[in-house]
Amino acid sequence: MKDSTCIFCKIANGEIPSSTIYEDEDFRVFLDLGPAARGHALIVPKEHYANIYELEDTLCSRVFLLAKKLALHMTEVLHCDGFNIMQNNGAVAGQTVFHFHLHLIPRYEGDKAGIRWNPGSAKPEELAKLVEMLRVD
Ligand code: AMP
Ligand code: ZN
Repeated sequence: MKDSTCIFCKIANGEIPSSTIYEDEDFRVFLDLGPAARGHALIVPKEHYANIYELEDTLCSRVFLLAKKLALHMTEVLHCDGFNIMQNNGAVAGQTVFHFHLHLIPRYEGDKAGIRWNPGSAKPEELAKLVEMLRVD
């Protein structure tokens, strides 16, 4: 399914040009126009899924294999010093384009990408409670 109002549907399906570095029948990978660091790219499925909750299982497993392949390739070509792979779901989590995408972010010593969070402090009783709530057997 495509969403006619979605910019990533249009880019992924070639209706809007992009700086594409990889394409197959399910995905397009193109360079981000607001890169966190040099070479920042996005893996985008050609079908419309708003987020990870909606993403179809086969694509979900394929996307990380593709991420690994591209991370290896980009690291070799760009000589980056590290690599972030990240993915946002929901506005509160920083998602701004509501079509699933995986960020591939090459990292360089001294870059200004600033991908961090403020660490809290995990209390033992809270950890125990969360384990009780979240454990999947
Ligand atoms: P997120 O905040 O996780 O939803 O990421 C959206 C990303 O898409 C941001 O890094 C934007 O810079 C990027 N972006 C938005 N529009 C375009 C576009 N037309 N072409 C390439 N990247 C885009
Ligand atoms: Zn879309």
